[in-house]
Amino acid sequence: MTRALFVIDVQNDFTEGGALGVDGGAAVAAGVTAYLRAHPDEYDVVFASRDWHHGDDLNGGHFAAPGTEPDFVDTWPRHCVGGETGAEYHPALDTTLIDVHVRKGQGKPAYSIFEGVTDAGAGFTEALDELGVTDVDVAGIATDYCVRASALDALAAGRHVRVLTDLVAGVAPASSAAALTELAAAGADISTTVEA
Ligand SMILES: [Zn+2]
Repeated sequence: MTRALFVIDVQNDFTEGGALGVDGGAAVAAGVTAYLRAHPDEYDVVFASRDWHHGDDLNGGHFAAPGTEPDFVDTWPRHCVGGETGAEYHPALDTTLIDVHVRKGQGKPAYSIFEGVTDAGAGFTEALDELGVTDVDVAGIATDYCVRASALDALAAGRHVRVLTDLVAGVAPASSAAALTELAAAGADISTTVEA
């Protein structure tokens, strides 16, 4: 068994005060740091993803066009532009605890970490396979979008998946609850780090 933690999109733009800040985002950043420090041997590898968009185009319709309102389903305000502060990890996330950095969304919408590329240039699935990862815990932002998509893809890739409910934050309560229900039905374990 090779265990991995996915830390999904714990970035300034997805935390309080950011372009798409969700309530509880900063607490997730601090919570992931505390959890990993308290359990240094829990994971063989820790992956962290960042949404990393172009600043000079609409990223395949992911950003709302100028003069239009985002629908917050398929179109969003400008966020996580690579190289800008909003795309950086939240400062409460201790990046020394992360083994593999993954970026996604360059020029296109990308909700799942599986759509990303590691800083070493490997596709994400390739990186998982190379390390022989069998079991995945998922934390991060947002429960109803990128956490959901990443966990579903991990299940589809045949991994055992657990979503850590005290280390995620969502855009909206109803869609976040629906995402956890969907993930449980798809075969994920849903638990807190205390239960875990
Ligand atoms: Zn995005």
